Amino acid sequence: MKRPLLAVAATHVCVAATVSALSCLPAAAQGIDYSTLEIRTTDLGHGVYLLGWRGGDSLILVGDHGVLLVDTSVAAMGDKIKAAIAKVTDKPITLIINTHAHADHFGANEALAKGGASIVAHENLRERMAKGQYLAAFNQTIPPSPPAALPTLTYTDAMTLHFDGETVQLFHPLNAHTDNDTLVHFKRANVIHASGTIGGDGGYPFFDMSSGGSLAGIIVAEDKMLSLADVKTRIVADEGEPASTETLKASRDMLVTLRARVKKLIDDGKSEDEAVASKPTKDFDAKWVHQGNFVTGDTMTRLAYQSLKGVRPRTTP
Ligand SMILES: [Zn+2]
Repeated sequence: MKRPLLAVAATHVCVAATVSALSCLPAAAQGIDYSTLEIRTTDLGHGVYLLGWRGGDSLILVGDHGVLLVDTSVAAMGDKIKAAIAKVTDKPITLIINTHAHADHFGANEALAKGGASIVAHENLRERMAKGQYLAAFNQTIPPSPPAALPTLTYTDAMTLHFDGETVQLFHPLNAHTDNDTLVHFKRANVIHASGTIGGDGGYPFFDMSSGGSLAGIIVAEDKMLSLADVKTRIVADEGEPASTETLKASRDMLVTLRARVKKLIDDGKSEDEAVASKPTKDFDAKWVHQGNFVTGDTMTRLAYQSLKGVRPRTTP
């Protein structure tokens, strides 16, 4: 195995979920046996539920006529997602939104759309799924998805869905967690799915530069969510409890400070290793690094340095 671009592979692995999909999961999920995983369902109000399994967590909106599902998890979790939905409602899945093209967000698309659900996503996501991807950060290849798994409806900048009384706004932040993110805002329920643009459990956020993500884009995405949020908004990350607006604001402020610090190191002519050695995240790490987080302070510094320098990750293995 080649050395990963970033020093993140030691605590973050991509697990082969099926022949056709790979799932990038945090350290807590390494070597996981999906058959032992339980989905934890949390009622967020107004028909919105969080289906949490410590991976690409899903949301559902239950309406009178059907279920809107945000993210389908890995293929191996598809039946469990179905079973978790069946405990809440007997209505069919009629609409699926994929927030981004990491495989723990679209892996069970084909199985869960089989009943006739439409799949909505940003146009870049469909292209990445159709072509297949190489994620340099993890040195992992994701093969092309079969046609039945691909989004049936794509958008470019923003889209509004009206679903059984709820207004669901989709926004595409440019080059944030990836180049194909969708922020999903349930207006009545006051819930936002962040598409990986905030860190799980209040940790550092991760931007996957091999998927077109960037530090600047993550900050813009967090600013966008702040513009949508009030004090009661719940912001759903890839895993863990939903974050508060206060946590989102703290994340945004931390990132802006970190960007300024790393930019200064670059302007002073420091190399990436010298930047890491100067520990620009030192006063942040106690708050933003938790046990099991794969984004440590040093990893965050490398990510920030490379993003600000415009380092281009490999596009092939
Ligand atoms: Zn992701």
